[in-house]
Amino acid sequence: MRVVIDRNKCIGAGMCLGIAPDIFSLDSERKAVAASVDDSVRPMVESAIVCCPVEAISIED
Ligand code: SF4
Repeated sequence: MRVVIDRNKCIGAGMCLGIAPDIFSLDSERKAVAASVDDSVRPMVESAIVCCPVEAISIED
């Protein structure tokens, strides 16, 4: 699986970092970036998807 961030939507709210700090971080433009992950963290990523206020996070399989 791959975690995809829509940089045009991300407002840097940081909810995803709060849920999964090992996966998400903010870059110098205060946009979220996601680490490479395997399927074991899918539930955590799904929680971040639900919590993102602008629906900027998605999963590509
Ligand atoms: S929760 Fe959504 S808007 Fe906030 S930093 Fe993460 S991807 Fe961006």
